[in-house]
Amino acid sequence: MSSSPIASGPLVRRNSRRVVISHGGREIVVGGGAPVMVQSMTNTDTADAIGTAIQIKELARAGSEVVRLTVNTPEAAAAVPAIREQLDRMGVDVPLVGDFHYNGHTLLTEYPECAQALSKYRINPGNVGKGAKRDTQFAQMIEVACKYDKPVRIGVNWGSLDQALLARIMDENAGRAEPWSAQAVMYEALVTSAIENAQRAEELGIAGDKIILSCKVSGVQDLIAVYRELARRCDYPLHLGLTEAGMGSKGIVASTAALSVLLQEGIGDTIRISLTPEPGGDRTKEVVVGQEILQTMGLRKFTPMVIACPGCGRTTSTVFQDLADKIQTFLREQMPVWKGKYPGVEAMNVAVMGCIVNGPGESKHANIGISLPGTGESPAAPVFIDGEKKMTLRGERIAEEFQKVVLDYVESHYGQGHPA
Ligand code: SF4
Repeated sequence: MSSSPIASGPLVRRNSRRVVISHGGREIVVGGGAPVMVQSMTNTDTADAIGTAIQIKELARAGSEVVRLTVNTPEAAAAVPAIREQLDRMGVDVPLVGDFHYNGHTLLTEYPECAQALSKYRINPGNVGKGAKRDTQFAQMIEVACKYDKPVRIGVNWGSLDQALLARIMDENAGRAEPWSAQAVMYEALVTSAIENAQRAEELGIAGDKIILSCKVSGVQDLIAVYRELARRCDYPLHLGLTEAGMGSKGIVASTAALSVLLQEGIGDTIRISLTPEPGGDRTKEVVVGQEILQTMGLRKFTPMVIACPGCGRTTSTVFQDLADKIQTFLREQMPVWKGKYPGVEAMNVAVMGCIVNGPGESKHANIGISLPGTGESPAAPVFIDGEKKMTLRGERIAEEFQKVVLDYVESHYGQGHPA
């Protein structure tokens, strides 16, 4: 059989070192070909140990595999061990990462229990200190990481780029026969800051497989350019994220656009989606978006996916929108329990379609599909299971009955003793 010229993937992941982030008996591997990991960050006051522990639990329950929290004051550093203990008591073993700026060297040294409770330290080389103090304070943080055997992320951000390094690179540029553009100089400064600080950390004694790098910027094309160069020049695992992505659909679209291009090129070992929550909004949204990017790209599977048509003039009621929403929410809410009880269920596809035009066809491609009646069609909803029409639902309780069909399918196909 001759092979078709049309083929998808497989994606070739960039070779990178393997870094382990651990807490208790749990180990999260970043890089070295491990699945791309999803992480998140709290927005509570870390000094509020109970409030922060509750939010971390919610983020972990939503699927965040590592959670970062700011450690910005002595009160915050003092609260970190209490947060860790509270999480352990609740059975939440997600590793915690401390985010340090300006005073990290002091906090990590003066609060050894905080340093021990954290599973990784994020160091922003642009915010470690100025002048002669900079090297000493950076060395102090690396010393603590070595002492407690913790990995670090050297996390550069263009909003807080090391100004001395930027000045040096601008000087070098001024000496070029054909100087680079200001944008190219900025890219070079970001990449150089990450790599030089990682090398400096290794000279100070931390192992090369304890370092993750990031270079966050807020422009999509900037992020792609910077990470391509970073990936070309080092083999440290890379943490991807579009910083200050923004609110609502803008933040989601910008993050997805930037990360998808890089992930498709095999670049990126862990991701975080920096969404600005709407007032009173749910912080776990950033975890859901991160998972959906990876799952829709075919890189990982987290939760059963609902395929739903957009609806059109053939759908005069909101029945199918309501059903798609209900099923999607139901599936996601079940996952914390289903993950252990029904191995493989995360790969299941459910189709909810609005009419006969594409409904039966799309439903046949899914594990379970329902084709709801469009305008003028007879009020019946055929249900397809593994490509075959198995039943027709009618009446007011279609949503409840369809949910029961999904539950039965999950139990029979992924439950203990299922034939597969
Ligand atoms: S499946 Fe039917 S209702 Fe849905 S978008 Fe297509 S034509 Fe419209």
